[in-house]
Amino acid sequence: TVSKKYNNQELGALYESVKARDPDQKEFLQAVEEVFETMEPVFDKRPELLPVMARLCEPERMLQFRVAWRDQKGKEHVNRGYRVQFNSAIGPYKGGLRFHPTVTLSIIKFLGFEQIFKNSLTTLPMGGGKGGSDFDPKGKSLIEIETFCQAFMTELSKHIGPDTDVPAGDIGVSPREVGYMFGQYKRLKNQFVGILTGKFLQFGGSLIRPEATGYGLVYFVKEMLEDKGDSFEGKKVAVSGAGNVAIYTAEKLLEFGATVLTMSDSSGYVYFEKGITREQLTAVDTHKVANRGRLSDFKEGKFVEGERPWGIDTKYDIALPCATQNEIEEADAEKLVKAEVKLVAEGANMPSTSEAIAIYHKNKIEFGPAKAANAGGVAVSGLEMAQNSARLSWSKEEVDEKLKGIMKSIFNASKSAAKEYNTHLQGGANIAGFLKVAEAMLAQGVF
Ligand code: GLU
Repeated sequence: TVSKKYNNQELGALYESVKARDPDQKEFLQAVEEVFETMEPVFDKRPELLPVMARLCEPERMLQFRVAWRDQKGKEHVNRGYRVQFNSAIGPYKGGLRFHPTVTLSIIKFLGFEQIFKNSLTTLPMGGGKGGSDFDPKGKSLIEIETFCQAFMTELSKHIGPDTDVPAGDIGVSPREVGYMFGQYKRLKNQFVGILTGKFLQFGGSLIRPEATGYGLVYFVKEMLEDKGDSFEGKKVAVSGAGNVAIYTAEKLLEFGATVLTMSDSSGYVYFEKGITREQLTAVDTHKVANRGRLSDFKEGKFVEGERPWGIDTKYDIALPCATQNEIEEADAEKLVKAEVKLVAEGANMPSTSEAIAIYHKNKIEFGPAKAANAGGVAVSGLEMAQNSARLSWSKEEVDEKLKGIMKSIFNASKSAAKEYNTHLQGGANIAGFLKVAEAMLAQGVF
C-alpha cells in the first residue's frame, strides 16, 4: 500500500520501494521521507527527475569492515567500521566520521544522505558520504583512542583519497582523532595529502574550521532574522549540546548580543538564568573537552538532571538544537510552542522528528533545517580542501568572510527555491540542494 501522505502517487510508490529494501533502517527512512514530503511540487512539475531520485536513494558504494584493536591491558576488542560513499555527482565523497556506540548502518546512511543535499547547497564541489564506528570513546584512555584510530584508518585508507573520498570529524571525532588517522594514512601510503579535513593547523588544517559549524549556524539564523526585519539583539536562545557545534554557536551568539540560556549533554542540562557569560562558556569547554567531564559535575548555573533544555521555565525566542538526531520530539516541540519560541534552526543533523517539524509549521515557527543551517562546517572543510590543493593557507578573516558569504548564499538559494515552488525554507533547501545534484546525474548518464 502506498503511504497516504503523498499526493504524487509515483513518489509514494518510490518511497515504498526504498522502504521495502531496508525496512529496518529507521533513521535513514526518516531522512528520505522528510525529503520526499517536501519535494512533491518538483516531481509534479518535472517527473523525469523521479528516476534520478530513485538512484540517489541508493548509495553508490557501502563499506563495512572489522576494526580489531588491543586496549592498554592487552585485551582484544572488535568494533564495526563503516564508510558509505553515497553520491559523487558533483565532487568527491565528503562527510564526517562518527564514533559513538549508537552508530549503525542506518545512522550512517541517514547522515550520508543528508550530506548530499547539504554539500550541494554549500556551492562547493563536494559529493556526499559518511562513516564511523560503534566504538565508544567514553572511558577510553588517549592511548586506546590513538590505537583505535590507527586500526580504523588501516582499513579505511584503502578506499579514500584526496580526489575520491575525504572524511572529517563528527560526534566523537575531533581534530585529535583526525590527527591520529592522518598520521596513519601518511605512514601507510607515504603520501602527505589532504585526505581528511578538520586537521590541526600545523599540517594543513584551516583557520575557522573548528568554529565553522557553530558560526555558520548563527550566520544563517542572522539571515533568517534579517529577512523578517529582525536581529539578535536581546534575543533569548536555548542551545542544546556542549560539543564543538554548541560551544561556537554560543560564542557567536554572545558576540551578536543574544542571551544564551542553556547548554546540555547526555547527563542533563545547565540553565543560566541571566545568560551564560564568556567566562562560563570557556569553563564549559574546558570541563567537557580538556577534562572530558559531564555537565552533572559542572559547578555553575542550575543543573537539571536527565532532561533536555527545551522545557526551561521561562519564555524564550530561539531554539538551536546542537546535540544529536531526534533530540526534539513531539512533546519537546509542544514545549517550544508553550515557551513562545519563534525560530528553530538545526546545528545537529536531523535533531527534529517529523512530528516536531509538523508542530513548527502548524504554529508558524520559522524553521532552518540542518542541511542548510549547519552546512558551515562542511563548507569550511571544502575550503580546507581548496587550500590543501593549492598548498597554501588563508587568513582567519579570509575564511570567515567566505563562510559568511556561503551561509548567505545557502539562505538565498533555499529561499528562492521555496518561493518558486511555493513552500517553506525547509522545502526550499531540499529542492535547491537536490536540483544541482540531479542535473549533474542526468548529464553524466545512468549508472
Ligand atoms: N560532520 C560534519 C557535518 O555533519 C562535517 C563534515 C565535513 O566537514 O566533511 O556536516
